[in-house]
Amino acid sequence: MKVYRIPVTWETFGVMEIEANSIEEAIKLADKDETPYPSIDGNVDGSLEVNFELIEHLNPGEKIKTEPLKEELKCPKCGKSLHKTLNDGLWCPNMCFLSEYHLWEAMQKAGIKKG
Ligand SMILES: [Zn+2]
Repeated sequence: MKVYRIPVTWETFGVMEIEANSIEEAIKLADKDETPYPSIDGNVDGSLEVNFELIEHLNPGEKIKTEPLKEELKCPKCGKSLHKTLNDGLWCPNMCFLSEYHLWEAMQKAGIKKG
């Protein structure tokens, strides 16, 4: 096994202590860009996301081949399940189409809408 570096982002939460003359003023001050971030009390469950743009940069020599599609999309020509690559977008494993553009065009004609 090998250790890979997967960049992620997620939401955290905390409580700010703001000196103000009213709660409305305190809310305004809390929302200002210049106000320093509070210390982190916790993470927002379910907020974690993988940053796909940075993965190959952080793992030199690694190429991500396919990313599983959320909904099954089938090639309008051969009926095979489509694959998705970060650089090339959507493509048919049988290479029925020259580009993602041609593929979408054929899918639209076949009545399949882009998600
Ligand atoms: Zn195909």
